[in-house]
Amino acid sequence: MRDKFQRFMQGRYGADELCRFLTALGLILIVVNLFVRSGILSYVVLAILIYCYYRMFSRNYSRRYAENQKFLSWRSRLRSGPSRWKADLEQRKVYHIYRCPSCRQKIRVPRGKGNIIVTCPKCRTEFRKKS
Ligand SMILES: [Zn+2]
Repeated sequence: MRDKFQRFMQGRYGADELCRFLTALGLILIVVNLFVRSGILSYVVLAILIYCYYRMFSRNYSRRYAENQKFLSWRSRLRSGPSRWKADLEQRKVYHIYRCPSCRQKIRVPRGKGNIIVTCPKCRTEFRKKS
């Protein structure tokens, strides 16, 4: 049986972080649904689990890998969210944050230096700003 399963899973994508996250989410929703008993919610759980299994048995490895990478970057952004926001706020007391007019690169300029010419570190565009 185990052998059969291993042969079945050969060349298939299998479980990853996104899959584990979806399974956990599905389980949480099942528990929630024990109390709210919503028909829609049970369909949502079903859809999540089907999607999860579909990904696990998928042979389109690169596509699944890209989905997982997307999920991981989303998760790390979410985790670093509050602390990054706070750090940004701290920085704004000491620095002005400008965007380069030509390439949109964020540039940090110390405050209180009067009129200055900023050179973009990325594309070398120069622009005048009051700091
Ligand atoms: Zn630039």
